[in-house]
Amino acid sequence: MLQQRTLKTITRAVGVGLHSGQRVELTLRPAQPDTGIVFRRVDLPQPVDIPICATAVTDTRLASTIGTGNAKVHTVEHLMSACAGLGIDNLYVDITAEEVPILDGSSASFVFLLQSAGIALQNAPRRFIRVTRPVEVRQGEGAAAKWARLTPYHGYKLSFEIDFDHPAVDSTGQRVEFDLGTGNYSRDIARARTFGFTRDVEMMRSSGLALGGGLDNAIVMDDYKVLNSDGLRYDDEFVKHKILDAMGDLYLVGKPLLAAYSAFRSGHAMNNLLLRELLAQRDAWEEVTFEDERQAPSGFLQPARAW
Ligand SMILES: [Zn+2]
Repeated sequence: MLQQRTLKTITRAVGVGLHSGQRVELTLRPAQPDTGIVFRRVDLPQPVDIPICATAVTDTRLASTIGTGNAKVHTVEHLMSACAGLGIDNLYVDITAEEVPILDGSSASFVFLLQSAGIALQNAPRRFIRVTRPVEVRQGEGAAAKWARLTPYHGYKLSFEIDFDHPAVDSTGQRVEFDLGTGNYSRDIARARTFGFTRDVEMMRSSGLALGGGLDNAIVMDDYKVLNSDGLRYDDEFVKHKILDAMGDLYLVGKPLLAAYSAFRSGHAMNNLLLRELLAQRDAWEEVTFEDERQAPSGFLQPARAW
């Protein structure tokens, strides 16, 4: 049987929120089979649980926010991406503020945290959402066109293309494909950092956003070039970060997908629309488990390798 996974032990991190600039403590705890991933706001007078699911996403401007009632958690996508990459099914995420810490702007620190705590196999079958026919969302025309699509695939792969019309971004790889069966998430994707442009940062700060952002946790560009003195971590770091984000956004569906995802200029909003469209088309997917794990696609068999 292909089993569900959680952590072996508790692990903690402290950082600042990218947008709020607030100090925040994060505690990752093991959870029982079929719990899913549950964020818990432990700073509120009564702690509030926010289990992830596609419809728990309440805001997708700049980052993916989940919420229930008045309780919310911003910028969940990098931690969710690490969970998707390492195949964590069940986890409590206790958090002391309304934003996940940005740490180094990638998911590498979350991967390190999860791997350090150790990954435990649980006595319950891992449940997948298998896409059985194509589902697509599309917006805009001509130069403003963007789209995202899921098609049937025995495994999980993502391909993404960007088009930013910025000299520093255009000089890097514009398209990347990552297949969980043949690639290595920790090595190939996890280190790609979020990125921003100084002109947007100034505008965001004047509206109280990006207060915790800087050269330590993002690739920052002026109108012409990358300002970080160490340059890029991958030749195609920008488009790889879009894959990282998409893996996190899509894992908010609550189960690993068996599908091929492809997207052009998609973002948090469109990724969530795609999930909602998938769930609405009840004949486009089915839930599956693998009693015989030899039937499972490669990439899902072993807990992901370390670096
Ligand atoms: Zn991101």
